[in-house]
Amino acid sequence: MTNVAQQRVLRTAIPGPRSTELHARKAAAVSAGVGVGLPVYVERAEGGILVDVDGNQLIDFGAGIAVTSVGHAAPRVVERVQAQVADFTHTCFMVTPYEEYLEVCEALAEVTPGDHEKRSALFNSGAEAVENAVKIARSYTGRDAVIAFDHAYHGRTNLTMALTAKNMPYKHRFGPFAGEVYRAPMSYPFRWPGGPADCAKESFEAFTSMVHAQVGEDNTAAVILEPIQGEGGFIVPAPGFVKQVADWCAEHGILFIADEVQTGFCRTGDWFASEHEGVVPDLITTAKGMAGGLPLAAVTGRADVMDSIHAGGLGGTYGGNPVACAAALGAIETMRSDDLCTRAKQVESIFLPRLRALAERFPQIGDIRGRGAMLAIELVNGAGDITPNPALTAAVNKACHAEGLVTLTCGTYGNVFRFLPPLVASEELLSEGLDIFEAAFAAAAG
Ligand SMILES: *Cc1c(COP(=O)(O)O)cnc(C)c1O
Repeated sequence: MTNVAQQRVLRTAIPGPRSTELHARKAAAVSAGVGVGLPVYVERAEGGILVDVDGNQLIDFGAGIAVTSVGHAAPRVVERVQAQVADFTHTCFMVTPYEEYLEVCEALAEVTPGDHEKRSALFNSGAEAVENAVKIARSYTGRDAVIAFDHAYHGRTNLTMALTAKNMPYKHRFGPFAGEVYRAPMSYPFRWPGGPADCAKESFEAFTSMVHAQVGEDNTAAVILEPIQGEGGFIVPAPGFVKQVADWCAEHGILFIADEVQTGFCRTGDWFASEHEGVVPDLITTAKGMAGGLPLAAVTGRADVMDSIHAGGLGGTYGGNPVACAAALGAIETMRSDDLCTRAKQVESIFLPRLRALAERFPQIGDIRGRGAMLAIELVNGAGDITPNPALTAAVNKACHAEGLVTLTCGTYGNVFRFLPPLVASEELLSEGLDIFEAAFAAAAG
């Protein structure tokens, strides 16, 4: 282990000279289509700290987009991965299988919502898991249509681009998109036309009437929903909405797919965000937080649904790679033994009072939302004007970066500032990050 001190250290400007040099090389070697949020090149990382090539130590409030929830270089992940790499790195599970794949599927059956019989299939990325969930739902139901929501993000492959709502940068000029995907209004209390109080009832009615009028319940294979939307702006649906949608799906023989790629694995204070909603999804897609940074994804669902697929219908060369499985086993063990769900709730209790106090001072904070260690503020013009304020969001983000705090934004309108720290970050580190964020916000908004 490298034993990186869990503190911020600034030795140069951010980005420093060596990062700047590397970034010039990027332009000559990497497609311009691959964007970079903060051009600081990382050399190593541990816990909640990234160490860059100039020797700076940055506080990580992004966890590589909710991936390294167990912290960078989590000891159990490192140990298991090192041992597995030395044992073997690949056979292809479809050719000659191995026990680690089974262990991950067994763990998924235990930690996902519901105590019914379950099966899983493993893949490499969230998008691939979503694609497969749709394939499974179509095959099982014998129906074509899939319903997704406004502000949804489900990935960048052709089918998942069709499911994703936002044009720029995800879909622009990349069509035509996969067919039989329909979009329903999202339950978005802060921007619901009738106001937040009526959002639950009205958004559910808007959803069912859209499906009924434009698609037909009998034509619908699945409804896919992020129980808290991620890239679309950390939108927490009105209380009861997720449950109403899931129950309505069950009534109509439609499968309810919870896309928990971002919300899963303790991030929201529960193992899965569906639990908070009292929902047991038919199918659940997971990836990001699952394997401590190694690429692994899964579809987990009802045994009768998952086993309805013909042999050979699901798979892929690398899906459930043994090294990625070893990492997942180390990550899940860490979540269990260090009770990272409780830790996520503690992160919430550290962040929320500070965000609320900041909102008292600055009317540009229109909404504070999220759960556990998946929190966000939505920035607006202020003083009763809820017009999105992406300029302020970008300015705060830039100012945080310059001070060595890695932050992320999101949202259909680019006006949501989100917080996704590793769940193991110490209270001191989180507080220091919040100090930097507050100062950056005050300077940009004041
Ligand atoms: C990130 C994300 C995906 C796509 O995952 P990739 O691993 O980037 O393909 C899908 N759904 C949700 C909710 C996500 O946050």
